[in-house]
Amino acid sequence: MTGKTHLLGGAVAGLCAVTTKEISAVSIVAFSLSLAGSIMPDIDIETSAISKVLRPVHKVYKLLFAPFKCGVHRGITHSLPMAFMLSYLLYLIDPIYGFSIFYGLVSHLFLDLISGGEALLAPFTNKRIRLGDIKTGRIGEVAIAFCEILLVAGLIIKRGGVMYH
Ligand SMILES: [Zn+2]
Repeated sequence: MTGKTHLLGGAVAGLCAVTTKEISAVSIVAFSLSLAGSIMPDIDIETSAISKVLRPVHKVYKLLFAPFKCGVHRGITHSLPMAFMLSYLLYLIDPIYGFSIFYGLVSHLFLDLISGGEALLAPFTNKRIRLGDIKTGRIGEVAIAFCEILLVAGLIIKRGGVMYH
């Protein structure tokens, strides 16, 4: 999946996590965390959008995890235990932040599960789990992106738009 498809997944996740239609500092941060969570797992590859923006974080990740088996692409950063841990840390700041990043991370993990799989239970096992093999840039990804756009529109319409104040 491309970063754009993941970001659309993050928008769906953000609209599910942030249920208020009022725009506030908290709702903007929470929605942004869903978007960040939707691309964050790809910090494990140098060419991803998130690695280009957060180059030092990518380098620290490589330093810490490259020597281990779970340090491969779609390893520890693509695991549910890691998603729970990171989300819990933000949950301690504000529960909405914890849920928002968790939804974003899960959207990424789901999209990768249906496009080749990942080490979903790392570091406990590095076995790749997969539910499908949709190829990046092919018709399957286009169909998923289209569904994501429909979901974003549907979720906005369902809540009656957004309210600025
Ligand atoms: Zn990924």
